[in-house]
Amino acid sequence: MKNYLAILLLVITVLPSIAPAQKPAPAEIIQLQGPQNPRLGFIIHGGAGVIAKGSLTPQQEKAYRDKLEEAVLAGYKALQAGKPALDAVEIAIRILEDSPLFNAGKGAVFTHDGKNELDASIMDGKTLAAGAVAGVHRVKNPITLARAVMEKSPHVMMIGDGAEQFAAEQKIELVDPKYFWTQPRWDALQLILKEEKDKSSKPEAQGQKPKSVSRREAAELPYNKFGTVGAVALDKDGNIAAGTSTGGMTNKKYGRVGDAPIIGAGTYANNQTCGVSGTGWGEYFIRLGVARDISSLMEYRALPIQAAADLVVKRKLQGLGGDGGVIAMDKFGNIGISFNSEGMYRAYINKEGKPVVEIYGK
Ligand code: ASP
Repeated sequence: MKNYLAILLLVITVLPSIAPAQKPAPAEIIQLQGPQNPRLGFIIHGGAGVIAKGSLTPQQEKAYRDKLEEAVLAGYKALQAGKPALDAVEIAIRILEDSPLFNAGKGAVFTHDGKNELDASIMDGKTLAAGAVAGVHRVKNPITLARAVMEKSPHVMMIGDGAEQFAAEQKIELVDPKYFWTQPRWDALQLILKEEKDKSSKPEAQGQKPKSVSRREAAELPYNKFGTVGAVALDKDGNIAAGTSTGGMTNKKYGRVGDAPIIGAGTYANNQTCGVSGTGWGEYFIRLGVARDISSLMEYRALPIQAAADLVVKRKLQGLGGDGGVIAMDKFGNIGISFNSEGMYRAYINKEGKPVVEIYGK
């Protein structure tokens, strides 16, 4: 009897530790293979920030709504025509880049020294191929250049003059940097510079390191509520793509790069999980690897898309002191929208195939 007990004890205590690692229970991992829902899906954003109800005139609100609807429908039409998710993402982002309303392409914000420095990235969820550009001054549509980096070069990211040389080689449209000059963005920079000057000239600030205006303070300034653009698409073959394009943050120091062109921070796509595009205080998105984290929560913890997005944006990002939001879509076309700012310009195609445009929080 004693011997039996000893053997039983051995089996219970020792064997599990020398047994080969167990596979995780099926419920803990998401289904990595298998048929995908053929539903098409498309969602875009036009930036997150302090967008309080009533802060836009009816005309301004209409202009935003119309442009978002135009972009979401253009991308969706491409998907309906059988085009790949990457095309839908590029088409919609180009429309938003060409509009002065958004902080990307034409409407890019100004750096501290009065320039426009653009960043963008795109990712293919089927192959995990990705392309990104940062700090370009002359590329009319940075999302198209990001896609060229992905498809026509062996690299993932190109920056500055080199990226523009590559753009010229690829016959991608270059413009005079003056093309990006817009009055509201210029005024926003002047306001922030003045605030900075006023702050540093206050007696208590004498002898202290000049403090720059925070994103939260900056976002409250007029004309500075409108951010980055992004898109996530699911095509008829079940492929997901995501892309993001931005002018960054008003008054950013020369050479600063945010999260938008950082794969895993501002943009991520993986057919096995989801696609994500973010907007907000880029430094925090980079530290948290926001977009990849949402994908990982789906992959390793089998969280649904909305729960994964909320956990990262409302708990982790918020907890660290960052603000912003994400749009996301899983491999079945379910969407996740999460932001901890007052509003986020966004539009998507609903289950009935109709465009829905939203601006404010719920
Ligand atoms: N995420 C962008 C950046 O930090 C800015 C934004 O989305 O408003 O460059």
